[in-house]
Amino acid sequence: MSRRTEKKRAPRARRDDRGRLHLELHRDSQSGAEYIELRQPVFAEDWQNQILAGAANTAHQLLSGEATVARVVELAGSAMSATSRLAEGLLARAPEGSVACRAGCDHCCYQVVGITPPEAFAIFEHLERTRSEQELVELANHVAELYEKGRGKPSAERFSPDHPCAFLEVASGRCTIYEARPLSCRGMNSLDAGECATRLREPAARARFLESGLGSHSFLEPIRAFHAISAGLQLALSELYRLDMHPLELTAAMHALFTGAEPARSDWLAGRRAFEATYSGELNADKAMRAVSGVLERPPE
Ligand code: SF4
Repeated sequence: MSRRTEKKRAPRARRDDRGRLHLELHRDSQSGAEYIELRQPVFAEDWQNQILAGAANTAHQLLSGEATVARVVELAGSAMSATSRLAEGLLARAPEGSVACRAGCDHCCYQVVGITPPEAFAIFEHLERTRSEQELVELANHVAELYEKGRGKPSAERFSPDHPCAFLEVASGRCTIYEARPLSCRGMNSLDAGECATRLREPAARARFLESGLGSHSFLEPIRAFHAISAGLQLALSELYRLDMHPLELTAAMHALFTGAEPARSDWLAGRRAFEATYSGELNADKAMRAVSGVLERPPE
């Protein structure tokens, strides 16, 4: 027996900058359950569209019609776990020995990291839960220092040994927020650690790499999976909940939370651009910055 459904227009759906709506809300007429479908493909690969729709449905189920900080943090945690599961499953299919990433290998931790606001809240909540007051003060100072150092610099300039991620323990190459690390860090991988090291640490090789505009030699599916999950979150929260899902830069977002977590949380939940001061400027005009959060890669309409 086929399911009878009715289309349900999201009461406050917000269109994107080009006037488009990507998601469509349906209600099963028998059970009353709501679910989301894509109005049209966002990605060229169908499996990515399915993942995107799954992430958008998870977001709608977890937020239950009303976004709160706790629910948004839970949603980000769920997206982080799902991205890791998918990435690990996909990486397991790579030919043995081809993926070069190892614990302590940190060449990809010296660049701008793109995140969404829910990831920012989840990382901050993780810090509040796991660090002492003294550790939080020290971390806030460290983040402020790196924020000032990188402020206004193009992302190409921040791809440099001089600009480590705020959460990298440089001596050991360890990520200090591994359990709560951003979605993009979970999809990132390399097929050639030597290439990663050379292009980060040798100025001539770095210049050639940046000039080429090419990506690194990576297994693309985990990165595409992260893009799809991130896009599902971005579309669900912006279109159905009218929340600002503009991509953020990790250090700037953490600095904004360390200097005013409560107003940032309540402004963002009220639909305001709580992080606007951190996303004005070159970083957000940068296509690579938007791509890392999964808002590009749309097939032609
Ligand atoms: S959050 Fe962790 S994994 Fe991601 S760039 Fe920073 S140190 Fe590296």
